[in-house]
Amino acid sequence: MKIAILSGKGGTGKTTISVNLFSSLKKATLIDTDIEEPNSHLFLNGKTYLEEDIKKEYPVVDHDLCTLCGKCGDFCAYNAIIPAKKKVLVFDDLCHDCGGCKLVCPTNAISYTDKSIGKIFYQNVGENKEFLFGKLSVGEVSGVKIIEHLKNVTKKEEVLLIDSPPGTSCSTVASIEGSDYCIIAVLPTPFGVSDMKMVVELLRSLKIDFGVVVNKSNLGNTDIYDYLDKEGIEVLENIEFREEFAKIIARGELLVDHSKYIRDKMSNIIKKVLGDTYA
Ligand code: SF4
Ligand code: SF4
Repeated sequence: MKIAILSGKGGTGKTTISVNLFSSLKKATLIDTDIEEPNSHLFLNGKTYLEEDIKKEYPVVDHDLCTLCGKCGDFCAYNAIIPAKKKVLVFDDLCHDCGGCKLVCPTNAISYTDKSIGKIFYQNVGENKEFLFGKLSVGEVSGVKIIEHLKNVTKKEEVLLIDSPPGTSCSTVASIEGSDYCIIAVLPTPFGVSDMKMVVELLRSLKIDFGVVVNKSNLGNTDIYDYLDKEGIEVLENIEFREEFAKIIARGELLVDHSKYIRDKMSNIIKKVLGDTYA
């Protein structure tokens, strides 16, 4: 069972929910696919036993063969290859490694080379637990390849939790695609409602079942509940804000290690999403 945890924007408690759910399960794998700002590892204190370089290919143009026909530039949706007046320019940071420009080049002037775009870290975090996170190199635009790799190496797991990037970007789509269920973390604020609407649209278009965890449920207003009610969206749990929780999180510790209230909340979410046997 693949369960992705996502949110309309950062700061909703998505990672807090991910790591505390992960720690509440007897056997599970967690991947942090929020590759631009991974932070699950800050709470899990694991030891890295493997670092894997993730590479992408990008085009190199043989200017002796190139006729400046312009077909590669017309094809590329990311403006990563641009036939200028005297030669073809390649912007490797923008390239999404789709392989299309080589296919459309009529003179075989394009070949590919590769470079590292980031890393995957494999960590030991306890018995029956696997944790991996990806990190995109500074200056790289797309980490979809890292996310796909993270999902590929964990595709046979019985319970896989995916801490996804916030929003509805290509990285988010790559993270949640193929999930059996998604948990949306949301704050009960007017912005929370508008951010969440986009996520709901995305999940409905991908036909993925989902439910919502309202974080800091005792703050804000009731707009979020009105929206969820109107849309018939299940509230999996409400989690209150408490000052002690903020302090525990700031220390990089797990809430489930300190609070029965949070242990019960995580257990309820697991029961609703995975069933009694996993709680
Ligand atoms: S491989 Fe794809 S994304 Fe990269 S330059 Fe060629 S067409 Fe553009
Ligand atoms: S498609 Fe090939 S020949 Fe045409 S501009 Fe691009 S590299 Fe040059």
